[in-house]
Amino acid sequence: MIKTDVIIIGGGATGCGIARDLALRGIPHCLIEKGDYAAGATGACHGLLHSGGRYAVSDPIAAKECYDENMILRRIGEKCVEPTGGLFVRLPGDSKMYRERFLRSCDDIGIPTEIMSSTKALELVPNLNPDIEEAIKVPDCSIDPFRLCMLNIKTSEIKGGFSFTRHRVTEIVQSRGRCIGVKATDAATGDVKEIHGNIIVNASGAWTNLIARLAGCDVPITLSKGSLVITNHRLTDMVINRLRPSSDGDIIVPNEAVCLAGTTSLTVQDPDKITIQPAEVDTIIGEAGRMIPHFNQTRIIRAFSGVRPLLKSQKLDSREISRGFQIIDHQNGMYSIVGGKLTTFRLMAEKMVDTIMNAFNLKRACETAERPLDGQEELSGYPLSKRLADMKNIICECELVTRKDVERTIEQTGTRHVGDIQHRTRLGMGPCQGGFCTFRALGIMHDMNILTAEQSVQSLREFLQRRFRGIRCALWGDQLREEQLVEYIYLGILAMEKNK
Ligand SMILES: Cc1cc2nc3c(=O)[nH]c(=O)nc-3n(C[C@H](O)[C@H](O)[C@H](O)COP(=O)(O)OP(=O)(O)OC[C@H]3O[C@@H](n4cnc5c(N)ncnc54)[C@H](O)[C@@H]3O)c2cc1C
Repeated sequence: MIKTDVIIIGGGATGCGIARDLALRGIPHCLIEKGDYAAGATGACHGLLHSGGRYAVSDPIAAKECYDENMILRRIGEKCVEPTGGLFVRLPGDSKMYRERFLRSCDDIGIPTEIMSSTKALELVPNLNPDIEEAIKVPDCSIDPFRLCMLNIKTSEIKGGFSFTRHRVTEIVQSRGRCIGVKATDAATGDVKEIHGNIIVNASGAWTNLIARLAGCDVPITLSKGSLVITNHRLTDMVINRLRPSSDGDIIVPNEAVCLAGTTSLTVQDPDKITIQPAEVDTIIGEAGRMIPHFNQTRIIRAFSGVRPLLKSQKLDSREISRGFQIIDHQNGMYSIVGGKLTTFRLMAEKMVDTIMNAFNLKRACETAERPLDGQEELSGYPLSKRLADMKNIICECELVTRKDVERTIEQTGTRHVGDIQHRTRLGMGPCQGGFCTFRALGIMHDMNILTAEQSVQSLREFLQRRFRGIRCALWGDQLREEQLVEYIYLGILAMEKNK
């Protein structure tokens, strides 16, 4: 049995942020995640570090939190934040009254704005629709959610925190009405670990209520599914938002060599049973195409969905529900933390750890807003061209990942999963979606005696199945042709079907 002070369930941005904050305040802790870090909504989001503009009119408190955190994160996390800036563009027919409210609300909150003519906006983003009436510049950024989680966990590791990925919490251990630990099953071996702690933090996002129920509690949340598509080109160097009340397909975010566009908002019941509807993909492409017409002709390399855990509300449209967050004390040694945004994860963690410090009757101030994230010195940072220096033995041509990068990740994590390498290096995230680099990465694992030949085939099959779930919604034109080539490689040359 493992003993610690605080057990964190969930390795999304919130859980990883809590682990970093606990580490910096000297509190022993253990994080448990059923997949890899960022396996939930964190890894399925736009990667927009909000300026707050999107929520300025409807949710000023959340907007102010976003703006303040945006300023902090660009300071402490420069290697995972790209300060792109953002434009809110007004298309013909978009309400002028909303524009006035938007400017007034940003002003009240303190979000800086700059009104631009369409000519000036087109100078900044030449692919913009030339018919736009005007644009308003805000300090949006693009953020890499995978890097963000890894860098937060790094501090926990340095300070002696434990974390177990691919371990699913299946039971909350209770004694005399108090939660005293968890049981977690190792996905690889089926072994069950029992971990005891004084406080349990439920940071499991869309799964919060499922975890709370293991302890006989309830957390009132609404689950809102959102879908996104990825293009194979970076069509804009700035974040592009539609200047109108939140709606489907009104954000485009550049991320390294690609763009992510979305999103939709559909209430769902089960976070483990979500599918992307072809109609969602059509809507996103159509709406994004109104802001950047080139979007309609650009290759879409995949689509994916995530689930937002929103605080329960009477509002019928989940877009109108507050993006604020809440800490729930279940009065039995367990706390749940719900709502919020990726942008506000650090603040959520700070408030959660303040609550824990109070419960332990300890005093030590939060330092996460001042200290740069650990481990950034190992990262190349943006732009992509910087990574071209010292490039030998490239394994993934789309994302410029070298053999050295793959070997280092395997050595550091001991992973047996291509997905883990992907999250840490961006391997397979480019236009071919791992068509050429997946089998190379598995070959390296085999060379390093991490996997047997049979295990690599099994791992490859699982990876390809997961990958296909996102690609199947984008199968037309060039992407369909590319996918056929990949299919010939895997079925024809590597005989994957025969190896079942
Ligand atoms: C489509 C979409 C787009 C978004 N875009 C943005 C954006 O651009 N900017 C922004 O600021 N916010 C965005 N958000 C919101 C943001 O993604 C979330 O608010 C944030 O990532 C939530 O992080 P989290 O750590 O609380 O939850 P999650 O990231 O969902 O983490 C919860 C973790 O708990 C784990 N878990 C669940 N059950 C168990 C168990 N039994 N045992 C162990 N582990 C378990 C899960 O595997 C998961 O990794 C978006 C959300 C969606 C859905």
